[in-house]
Amino acid sequence: MSDKKVRVRFAPSPTGGLHLGGVRTVLFNYLFAKKHQGDFVLRIEDTDQTRYVDGAEQYILDCLEWCGITPDESPVVGGPYAPYRQSERKPIYREYAERLVAQGHAYYAFDTPEELNEKRREIPNFQYGHARRYELRNSLNLPLQETEKLLHEGTPHVIRIKMPENETVSFNDMIRGHVSFETNQVDDKVLLKADGMPTYHLAVVVDDYLMKVSHAFRGEEWLPSAPVHLLLWEYLGWRADMPQWAHLPLILKPDGHGKLSKRDGARLGFPVYAMNWLDTKAGELTPGFRELGFLPGAFLNLLAMLGWNDGTDQEIFTLDELIEKFSIGRVSKAGAKFDFEKAKWYNAEWIKRADAESLKLKVWEVLQANGVVVKDEAYLLKVIDTVKDRCVLLPDFYQQAAYFFQQPAVYDLNAVKPKWTDAKTSFFNAFVAILSSPETFDAVELETRFKALAEANGLKPGDVMLPLRVMLVGGKFGPHVFDIAKLLGESETIIRIEKALEAFNG
Ligand code: GLU
Repeated sequence: MSDKKVRVRFAPSPTGGLHLGGVRTVLFNYLFAKKHQGDFVLRIEDTDQTRYVDGAEQYILDCLEWCGITPDESPVVGGPYAPYRQSERKPIYREYAERLVAQGHAYYAFDTPEELNEKRREIPNFQYGHARRYELRNSLNLPLQETEKLLHEGTPHVIRIKMPENETVSFNDMIRGHVSFETNQVDDKVLLKADGMPTYHLAVVVDDYLMKVSHAFRGEEWLPSAPVHLLLWEYLGWRADMPQWAHLPLILKPDGHGKLSKRDGARLGFPVYAMNWLDTKAGELTPGFRELGFLPGAFLNLLAMLGWNDGTDQEIFTLDELIEKFSIGRVSKAGAKFDFEKAKWYNAEWIKRADAESLKLKVWEVLQANGVVVKDEAYLLKVIDTVKDRCVLLPDFYQQAAYFFQQPAVYDLNAVKPKWTDAKTSFFNAFVAILSSPETFDAVELETRFKALAEANGLKPGDVMLPLRVMLVGGKFGPHVFDIAKLLGESETIIRIEKALEAFNG
């Protein structure tokens, strides 16, 4: 690698919620930057006013914050190359577009949208490019005076790149290796629009240059734009400073057929966006991983594994480990299938490994939202430790933990009643008496005494264990039943047994 300081950028257009592929792009850029002690820049590419969506920029900022990825430079924190919002950089770009026109690499085009639509109707697969450009209203075609007159009169116009004919342009992609394009296949893209705003193509090149971006990792869908960008870097005389590019593989539908879209998520019942996105115009809510109950660390971990591995079987990585181990050379060229079951597995692993303290607030929120009152923090921490192995998503803490704070409102009577006998009632009454005696209330000891008492009463311990669980929990779930009793404490255990006996015998 050259000794140029590593500077990467995430350059989203604020057009809506952030697809998980977008967050993976952020992540790979960020990991690379941090691994090489470089800078991670957030630049908002909002030059397409027609696609601008209110709230989308804030959503992107919130999303980075949720993920724990902090830009070194951004529209919020500023930085040496501010502004970082392209719409605020509007005056910068014209100069470069005009320079390209003066050099003969770009031209003014005066065709109105109606005239272009007419062409599209007349000519199948019409492209504004080398085959047709001399039939259209532009400065390549019109007499010089006519062009000058039109410009002088302020006639609306755009500036287009003049793609060279019969050339091959190529570059070395850090993931794909040598990639080449035939210029004849590419149309004369607009660089500067009639409203004076640059298009993405011009702005991305100018800003990557001015902001001294050293590496740019972006989605594979941008590969077709690369020849235009390459030529701009060359024509503007900056080719030696061009960032090293890597085009990241697509995230595919679970069946591997095509790019994973927002619609696939809706169809298959899983989120595709990082966080909930509310489209206020359409009144449509697209669900997000955050609200479904994913931990940010798990989300980043599963995204990293979509297309990358460290060459071993290791699957669980913290952000710091990812920074240490990440290498762009180990990102695969092939698309990565998205598997929601696997995504949930990552989250379960993260919950299992998290310490109770770090989960406390989130679990408290889940319980609170469901009307469960938590008064004792130390008790909450113990409950989290007891049930976290059983939770896949954060909301699972409600079902798995609520009964520690409130008595079961209903019992799974079907699990108990068909086999309920008077002998079992006597057994539980005797067990309550044991619990009331002043011996230590320890889970192991409790189990031993419970089993001994069952046998003394001519019952198999297994026959009374399930009823005990239903008494304490309400259903057939939860951790080891004596751990539950221990945590509930003796008086609460007694209350629950007595209350349940009434229901079982009712
Ligand atoms: N503004 C582009 C986007 O919305 C950025 C593509 C790039 O990184 O060059 O994804």
